[in-house]
Amino acid sequence: MDLLMDRPRPPESIFENPAEPLFAPAPDLIEWLQATFIANGAPLQNEDHKHLAWASLGALWTNVPNGRAGRRIIGQCEMGLPPMNKWGRARVERQLLDWFGGLPDFVLTFDAEYARDCSDAEFMALVEHELYHAGQERDPFGAPKFRKNGAPAFAIRGHDVEEFVGVVRRYGAGAAGVQEMVDAANARPEIADVKIALACGTCRLRAA
Ligand SMILES: [Zn+2]
Repeated sequence: MDLLMDRPRPPESIFENPAEPLFAPAPDLIEWLQATFIANGAPLQNEDHKHLAWASLGALWTNVPNGRAGRRIIGQCEMGLPPMNKWGRARVERQLLDWFGGLPDFVLTFDAEYARDCSDAEFMALVEHELYHAGQERDPFGAPKFRKNGAPAFAIRGHDVEEFVGVVRRYGAGAAGVQEMVDAANARPEIADVKIALACGTCRLRAA
């Protein structure tokens, strides 16, 4: 897995002045994650991300520490343009254009310090966790939705894992429809056994 040797790293400059909030666009990270997880024939290609072949993604490193309820947040996935008032939205649009040269469907933000220090497996688990949030809308029957131009309709996807845990505890994996997840958890990990006691800002859950 030579590709992993070249895993993108945050620039040193982002660590120089902790007092100043910094966000650095990371086009190399997007290139790497597309080549690693999304592209046809990618070494760790994941069918669950295949709609993202049509998505434009933007990534940011940040030196801004983030946390909630005593748990450090190390990654986050958001839609490109948040619902805001007109000027607020336009200001965000201007910033996204300056960073990415276009409006991404999803913006992924990563804690630069964590991304610098973690292992390759932890980094991949984090990136894939955030990619899982970059989802496709579903119709009421569960079928993926598309726009009129044929492109996937994108939306943030939650994990609802906490809800699953309660149902599984009381009624079993079959009742919660997570037998597949239980089987996957009991099987040997395909990539690496990673434990991350840190959180994601999108779902507030452990980012692995
Ligand atoms: Zn998450």
